[in-house]
Amino acid sequence: MDELAGYSAEVVERCGTCGGNLRSAISQSAFKGRLVWSIDRWCDNCGHAEVVDGWDDMPDELRSMLIEQCGLVRVRVDRAEANPLRVRLMAVFRVNGVGLVEARDAVARLVGEGVTGTDAEMRLLSERLAAVGVTPHLDLLGRSVDEEAEAG
Ligand SMILES: [Zn+2]
Repeated sequence: MDELAGYSAEVVERCGTCGGNLRSAISQSAFKGRLVWSIDRWCDNCGHAEVVDGWDDMPDELRSMLIEQCGLVRVRVDRAEANPLRVRLMAVFRVNGVGLVEARDAVARLVGEGVTGTDAEMRLLSERLAAVGVTPHLDLLGRSVDEEAEAG
C-alpha cells in the first residue's frame, strides 16, 4: 500500500444502539490520482460495527473532524513560475464542476496566501500542479483552523 498517503482521526461518539462508546476512525488518502476516504465505527459495548467508504469528496462533517485533529495543509506556488502557466493552472482547478471564476480565485490564492485543505487533498493537488510544470510547496498549518483565516 505504498501509494497510500493520508492521515486519520479518531473520535468517540455515543452508540445509537446501546449508548456505549462508539469509536470512529476516519481516514482519507490519495490513491492513483483520486481521493479515497473511509469511516470505521465500532462499539466497545455491544459490538455494533459499520464501515462507510467512498471515492472523491468525503462528507463535510467527516472532513471537518479530520482537519480538527490533523490540521490543514497549505500549498503554494511561486508567482513567477505560475504566471506563464496560468491557463493550465486554472484547468487544474476546473474539475468536478468548478466554474471559471472559482478557478481563477483558486489560482490567485495559490500564488498568494496558499490553497488549504486536508493532507490527501493537497497531495493530490500537488501531483496535478507538478504535472502542469510548477513546483508546489507544501506546509502543515497545525491544528488551529483559525490560521486559515490569515490572508497573505
Ligand atoms: Zn453499542
